[in-house]
Amino acid sequence: MKDISMMNILPIEELHTRVAEVVDLSQASAVLGWDQETMMPKKGARFRATQQATLQGLLHERFTQPRIGRLLSILEEPTSFNALSPTDQAMIKTTRRDYDRATKLPASLVRDLAMATTEGVEAWRIARRESRWEQFAPYLRRIVDLKRQEAACIGYKDVPYDALLDEYEPGATTAQLAELFTHLRSETVTLLRRIASTGRQPDRSVLEQEYDPAKQLAFTELVLRQMGFDFEAGRQDLSTHPFTTSFGPTDVRITTRVDDHDLQVALYASIHEGGHALYDQGLPVDLVRTGVGASVSLGIHESQSRLWENFIGRSLPFWQFVLPRLREIFPVQTGTATPEMFVGAVNRVDRSLIRVEADEVTYNLHIILRFEIERRLIGGEIDVDDLPALWNQRSQEYLGITPPNDRLGVLQDTHWASGLIGYFPTYSLGNLYAAQLWATLRREVPDLDERLAAGDFQIVLSWLRERIHQHGRIYQPAELIERATGEKPRPDYLIKYLNEKYGKIYGF
Ligand code: ZN
Repeated sequence: MKDISMMNILPIEELHTRVAEVVDLSQASAVLGWDQETMMPKKGARFRATQQATLQGLLHERFTQPRIGRLLSILEEPTSFNALSPTDQAMIKTTRRDYDRATKLPASLVRDLAMATTEGVEAWRIARRESRWEQFAPYLRRIVDLKRQEAACIGYKDVPYDALLDEYEPGATTAQLAELFTHLRSETVTLLRRIASTGRQPDRSVLEQEYDPAKQLAFTELVLRQMGFDFEAGRQDLSTHPFTTSFGPTDVRITTRVDDHDLQVALYASIHEGGHALYDQGLPVDLVRTGVGASVSLGIHESQSRLWENFIGRSLPFWQFVLPRLREIFPVQTGTATPEMFVGAVNRVDRSLIRVEADEVTYNLHIILRFEIERRLIGGEIDVDDLPALWNQRSQEYLGITPPNDRLGVLQDTHWASGLIGYFPTYSLGNLYAAQLWATLRREVPDLDERLAAGDFQIVLSWLRERIHQHGRIYQPAELIERATGEKPRPDYLIKYLNEKYGKIYGF
């Protein structure tokens, strides 16, 4: 490759070229990743690993070249910066952020982390299978130690956990989250007690029948089309764990999984990933190769999937619209079932031990429990040895149940073993953002329920396109929410929504 720094071009043009190259490499790597999860034969793993390692190495090398730092410094000079277009200014900011994160960590720390997490995941698998915490504890201690070093290299204002959080949710701080979550937690615990005290449970039997997998997939495609998913700019395939990946807004891949005895599994996986995909398809095409036309954070991404999955997909208007379509495909199974019966069945609340199986109400308690533990762990307030007891005690306090063993408790998730510390809170942030967006949308479109019941999902998509999608990474997450809703992120909208919705379903 020619060294572009030798050419006589403006610094901004050179930066464009260099950033675009990094975006291309990253998308190419995503294609390989998608293929690995969906199409690749078993034996393909051998060469795929080296292909990915080479591509990732190349990407890191191209992006961390000192020349990029030099170009940024030149372009950040006020006289240069002020002369740039707003989108170029946004590119400077996002590139600076990414460049600093990529260059602040010494290569030795990156290597140690890669090694510690590879070993950590392996040890975690065995420890979980045998439900033996002490098998995993020394590996986690090493990972926590390295993550503390990472936080120190990245830098932070208040506490080390802030530096880790910032990777997934730029601008979010531990103090802000603690405030949002404390309120959400106590209100959710109260709501959960009220639900339990009714002694009622919706009947799920309409979902738990034999549903032909191919027909289920056809139904999910019908729903995705109705949501506005562009099948000429994406596709849906099958994988063990559903996910969304994007190679640019005009090629967004989602996956789902099917259970032939539970209608809920494929439908809600598709709607959830479909919500992620609509965001990716709506990102500003012209800014993709500047790095600005990308999603701004995991929390914002999750707000899009949750809004479609829970606020729309588990609502009465949605079922009023889709039930006649479902009945055409599955006349016997749906029989005389009403939209209300489906709404009850898909919104059943259970105090369960496993996060990934949790319902909309208890889900946030699972997250808050993890947030409280991991931030104290990184802050040095607790030790790895304290985790099982602390986990069980919090589980009893929040969810009203104590795991019978560590496999169903502290060992259930892979995140810590993978070094993903600071990641969990983004799931609940997604729910908070979604509720706030939803409340704003309802205020601005008073006949929203009637429109949704008639299948007009376009009204929601257009609104999200305008308020969220088209902005890419121009604003920080909290600022984006404030611009979209008129207020900073706050927990009340989610609390109000949950109380109203579940009050109706459980009759209080
Ligand atoms: Zn998601």
